Amino acid sequence: MVFMEISNTYITGHFAEDQNDNKFTLLNPSDESIIGTLFCSSKEQVSSAIRVGLSMEKVSANLTIKERIAILQEIHDEIITRKEELANAITLEMGAPITLTSSSHIQMGIDHLINTIRTLKTYKFEDNHNDYKLIRVPIGLVALITPWNWPLNQTLTKISSAIAAGCSIVLKPSEYSALSSRILIEIINKSSLPKGCFSCINGIGSDVGPLISSHPDIKMISFTGSTLAGINIQELAAKTIKRVSLELGGKSAHIICKGVDLEKAIPNAIDQCFINSGQSCSAPTRLLVPNESIEDVERIAAKYVKTLVTGNPMDTKTNLGPVVNIKQFKSIQTHIEAGINSGYKLISGGLGKPTSCISGYFIKPTIFSEVPNNSLIAQEEIFGPVLSIIAYDDINHAVEITNDSIYGLSSYITCLDENEGLEIAKEIRAGQTIINKKSRGSAPAPFGGFKMSGNGREHGLFGLEEYLEIKAII
Ligand code: NAD
Repeated sequence: MVFMEISNTYITGHFAEDQNDNKFTLLNPSDESIIGTLFCSSKEQVSSAIRVGLSMEKVSANLTIKERIAILQEIHDEIITRKEELANAITLEMGAPITLTSSSHIQMGIDHLINTIRTLKTYKFEDNHNDYKLIRVPIGLVALITPWNWPLNQTLTKISSAIAAGCSIVLKPSEYSALSSRILIEIINKSSLPKGCFSCINGIGSDVGPLISSHPDIKMISFTGSTLAGINIQELAAKTIKRVSLELGGKSAHIICKGVDLEKAIPNAIDQCFINSGQSCSAPTRLLVPNESIEDVERIAAKYVKTLVTGNPMDTKTNLGPVVNIKQFKSIQTHIEAGINSGYKLISGGLGKPTSCISGYFIKPTIFSEVPNNSLIAQEEIFGPVLSIIAYDDINHAVEITNDSIYGLSSYITCLDENEGLEIAKEIRAGQTIINKKSRGSAPAPFGGFKMSGNGREHGLFGLEEYLEIKAII
């Protein structure tokens, strides 16, 4: 393995070469080996990126729609050219299986570019109304702060919408996804986006983040990450009244309706929860099943989970890789311990690593049953392969349980009759409801949460409009 020294501080078309003392060590989560060092941006570099972004607001805003589409298309084409490299980097930095990174991880990023280009082709930035004219203009310099769990997806949904809107950008990707971020910056650097319209700074979130959140020249922050960091950003941003768009955590429920084929529904539900080793904000981590089916559900779940392979994420047979870092590993173990100590029925998994995994942050895929919805493991976002099965009496009870959460990001329904599913969906307090689908797919449908899951909407038209201000000319 080659040791990498990375600087993701990228300003006015140049990667900063100065190798300051503030470094972040990059570990491979599947064997805990050191794979490199990330040089964190200094305070001066953060200020410089913001200064350049501010000076480029007009240049970004004046790009024609044709030019914006061409830039997005160039980024799209270069991602396709470098997709293998990107998939390898994501697997190496955060541990998702290579089969997943080379498919969904890359495809979701590509889809954001395609959907944004489609939106731009027909979007009306100007509208005439009876008594006034409406003009939608870019909000100006935006800061995009992103996490490590679906790194290309999360950076590209924001970057594509911000470029489409005509904003200048300062990106702050997760320190844990430095390898894929570096490739993405190189891809953007190669495009015809004028230098300075896009900069990148890097470092530990709690060091660099507050410099961004409190900065008066940044007009908007789009943040995806943990609820705690989101609160901190919103508090610091309040003093400058900047727009803050938050995409935060979740504890989504999956309602299995009466009468469905459990032999199909339960394995699907487990796959949806455990994809990306359980590290998805929209993962359905509460499985709601009819009271009378609980024994069948437990039997099917226990049998299915034995077929899942946890191990080396570079192996194409692997279903679950490690979780991203030691902090996440310990936090997940603490939650599993809480479930065991509370006496909930352990259907599979438990504490410790799978026997085949000596080093690395591997978690045994864990399923608890007979979990009360007010328990810690049913209320807190665990962010690992841990599923809670919760029994319900009737569909009203299922909806009540679904909504009994501080979060409201996503929700899932498996049902016989999709019209019934639609009626249930209307009662759910969450930004999305997915009915009878194996995956969220690449739809340009808006994505974002209710309650503590955030306040923003991303993807396609809704993503674009986040970055615009409305002007009425009367
Ligand atoms: P995190 O909040 O620790 O970090 C996210 C990003 O914010 C990183 O770039 C980090 O460096 C930065 N950051 C951390 N503290 C900050 C601060 N005080 N100010 C500014 N920036 C700060 O989250 P994570 O561990 O990288 O990601 C996992 C979390 O993200 C989970 O809670 C998950 O649910 C959430 N998430 C939400 C969505 C969504 O769309 N709703 C999508 C993916 C992940």
